[in-house]
Amino acid sequence: MSGSGSKSRTSNEVDAWLATGHRPFVVVISGPSGVGKSSFVKQLLAAGLNLEYSVSATTRARRPHETEGRDYFFLGRDEFRRRIDAGEFVEWAEVHGEHYGTLRSEIERRLGAGKNVLLDIDVQGGRAVRRVYKDGVFIFVLPPSLADLEERLRGRATDSDDTIRLRLDNALREIKLVSEYDYAVVNDELRSALDRVASIIVAETCSTSRRPPLVST
Ligand code: ADP
Ligand code: 5GP
Repeated sequence: MSGSGSKSRTSNEVDAWLATGHRPFVVVISGPSGVGKSSFVKQLLAAGLNLEYSVSATTRARRPHETEGRDYFFLGRDEFRRRIDAGEFVEWAEVHGEHYGTLRSEIERRLGAGKNVLLDIDVQGGRAVRRVYKDGVFIFVLPPSLADLEERLRGRATDSDDTIRLRLDNALREIKLVSEYDYAVVNDELRSALDRVASIIVAETCSTSRRPPLVST
């Protein structure tokens, strides 16, 4: 069919395809404790990137500024185990002596609503999530130096000396796995590092690989 006021089947298909936009995806942020991931997350969520946060479950104690259901779901070990057995986690891992896990429901309901989903998880979690969400974007946050990392951990004043020592030891192991990630961003100055991460996410939303194939005629 052709002529003014009517659209050919092909134009309708192209219009439908144009309206579809990109497939939503997961964005995984990993990096050593104290590098600035939580600071990134807070600001990225406010940056208008169609991003929502996947709230993890953990057995670690709540920090004073943290809110149940916003920062984490704080669970006892028995409840965490029950949820593992019920298959509720995409992945879970022991990190710095505590259990942390990504709930399938946190990711799926957001992707289902067309939102991109931000995860702040460790490198073991990153590997496991890559196996399930192969088209995810994996970003590793690096400190400018190990001395800066230690200073940030101490400056945050949320952890004991023993915990800080454990987290610094683990940092070396984690940083060695940076090449498993798609991008590495040095968190030197927070604002400019955030701009770099936001640019990566914006570029990924423009990738042709994230659009459904256009029906050929
Ligand atoms: P993570 O979530 O990776 O453990 P946080 O976001 O809690 O790290 O940051 C650790 C500490 O470092 C916090 O006190 C935070 O304010 C500080 N921080 C974050 N980014 C920077 C930066 N670019 N420069 C200096 N301090 C930073
Ligand atoms: P924190 O105790 O400082 O909040 O987090 C400690 C570490 O646990 C960080 O490296 C963080 O990325 C990681 N983490 C948080 N949630 C999860 C999760 O659901 N799964 C995994 N594997 N790691 C997580």
